[in-house]
Amino acid sequence: MSKIMEFVFATNNLHKLTEVQNIVPTTIKIVSLKQINCFEDIVETETTLEGNAKLKAVHVKSNYGYSCFADDTGLEVESLDGKPGVYSARYAGEPANAENNIDKLLLALNGKTNRKAQFRTSICLLLEDKEYFFDGICKGEIISERRGTNGFGYDPVFVPEGYTTTFAEMTDEEKNKISHRGLAIQKLTNFLQNYFD
Ligand code: IMP
Repeated sequence: MSKIMEFVFATNNLHKLTEVQNIVPTTIKIVSLKQINCFEDIVETETTLEGNAKLKAVHVKSNYGYSCFADDTGLEVESLDGKPGVYSARYAGEPANAENNIDKLLLALNGKTNRKAQFRTSICLLLEDKEYFFDGICKGEIISERRGTNGFGYDPVFVPEGYTTTFAEMTDEEKNKISHRGLAIQKLTNFLQNYFD
């Protein structure tokens, strides 16, 4: 695959954009919403990760005409029946605030011995009038105090299975190798490489 392919990644989160740009091969160019002058808020009204990922990708494809992919991620905590799940960004209410979300999560898990959780990412790709979904799961547990300053969201309290450090104590490179989004992006990348081969 030598031709450079261009895709819009429908996110306003610069941290995620950089994470993904660092994962994909140089033959895939990832363009941000800002670069296509898409500044409106795309409201996530669906009740599943897949639904929200598709909603965002469809918005960009139908309004701007670009090949596009979008992701939605949730933190699913076993002893909280999968919550906060699709509502992870606004778990502690509006406006979305990572510190308040972590505080609420730690409070909800206070006294619970089962602290198993997983991040799950769903990616929806719209390409030549077809839609494709890719998912990635990273299992781990929620610790009782914040550790580390890298990353975003729930990173300071999430320790992936088989590790002793939180996501926030890892470099982007270490996190990308094992993260839910890293795994989903890897599947997307493999698919694109085969598709255009
Ligand atoms: P989004 O769909 O990627 O915007 O994710 C929704 C919410 O899940 C974010 O606002 C974060 O609270 C949380 N989240 C998603 N990915 C991560 C991650 O890699 N680390 C920590 N929190 C994350």
